[in-house]
Amino acid sequence: MNIVVVGAQWGDEGKGKLIDILSKDVDITVRYQGGSNAGHTVRVGDEQYVFHLLPSAILRKGKICVIGNGVVVDPKALLEEMDGLKRRGIAVTPKQLKIAVNSHVVMPYHRILDGLREKMREHKIGTTGRGIGPCYADKVTRCGIRMVDLLNPRVFRAKLQDNLREKNEYFKKVFNQKGFHFDEIYSEYMTYARRLRAYVCDTALFVNEEISKKKSVLFEGAQGAFLDIDFGTYPYVTSSNTTVGGAPSGSGVAVTSIDKVIAAVKAYTTRVGEGPFPTEFDPKMDEEIRAKGKEFGATTGRARRCGWFDSVLVRYAAVTGGFDELAIMKLDVLDELKTIKLCSAYKYKGKILKDFSHDYEVICRAKPVYIEMPGWQKPINAVREFRKLPPQARAYVERMEELVGVPIKYISIGSERDEIIVR
Ligand code: GDP
Repeated sequence: MNIVVVGAQWGDEGKGKLIDILSKDVDITVRYQGGSNAGHTVRVGDEQYVFHLLPSAILRKGKICVIGNGVVVDPKALLEEMDGLKRRGIAVTPKQLKIAVNSHVVMPYHRILDGLREKMREHKIGTTGRGIGPCYADKVTRCGIRMVDLLNPRVFRAKLQDNLREKNEYFKKVFNQKGFHFDEIYSEYMTYARRLRAYVCDTALFVNEEISKKKSVLFEGAQGAFLDIDFGTYPYVTSSNTTVGGAPSGSGVAVTSIDKVIAAVKAYTTRVGEGPFPTEFDPKMDEEIRAKGKEFGATTGRARRCGWFDSVLVRYAAVTGGFDELAIMKLDVLDELKTIKLCSAYKYKGKILKDFSHDYEVICRAKPVYIEMPGWQKPINAVREFRKLPPQARAYVERMEELVGVPIKYISIGSERDEIIVR
């Protein structure tokens, strides 16, 4: 069984925990898009791990992790992550981690450009400043440097020279910066290449071969549906396809090999950074849920904006993503609320809108139409069976299911591995 796990909102849905649970039963976990701007948090007992580039399944012995071609790899960040795990007693071997030859490499100029561009914008996107956007831009304008290039000093030299020739002009003339020295970057990246060489291979061939041997694969999406470059709240999005379509193109595994799509959905909504957010809470409620849900970015530490569950968004994500099952995450965060609201539609210029709109003005000004439900007002993290949840919590979950139109299979009720209900 080959499964894709995606986020159905603006990311941070708790995919890390879901993937950690699901990866127990699969042989290979594949990251297929994004870069070190992603952040997945996994708790194992008293230990907490935050992953940016490594698939979270790296914690499971004997499982293989793949960084697919759709990912942009910052070798410095990746090696730091690997070294950090080593210090905690987890050595990442080339048998366990495979990096795609044709994945693109984040360069120092990408990181700097990310910050400079954001600074110049009047309407800031809220980028994490990790150089992800500029790296994807180079991939599309065909001047990117790939892992395979890094392993061939002659090719790397020529490509880096070409890039610096153009980019240094740009840094000097547009941003009034001094630009980059070839020798410094070259020797820094050659060091990375030496350390990463053994991990790099044609991961598309590798994964397909494993699939033909009946091995199971979990495709680990980063970010969420509304950060998708095509289907998200553009331009407040990330630079890759975070929806299911990113999995085949970002891994080289055909759509026909994918058996199931599971989407992680938070029991409420959050988003980091700028951009429209119809169901955003008022400041008091925002602060309350942020504190309870510990809604601070795993990558940047930024406070996340919080709001009510928005079924208009999740329905759209379900249609464009072909979701088979939903995993409701962080239901316990709503434990103490007296009443809980769900957005069933939007109201705009006197009309009821059932569907998400790509019109920036509509999505910024649309007013949510809410259904109000009573809260359960008791802790639920010890419950392991759906029927043992308080009736109000069951009713809330069932209403979410009905509004989105996709069966809810998992309900997460705490950050620990075992705090989950499987229906
Ligand atoms: P991801 O990027 O989608 O994996 O999301 P994060 O890594 O930001 O995960 C969200 C945070 O929520 C992490 O700190 C998790 O430990 C935590 N978490 C996951 N599921 C639950 C849950 O059901 N309840 C609570 N209270 N916390 C959870």
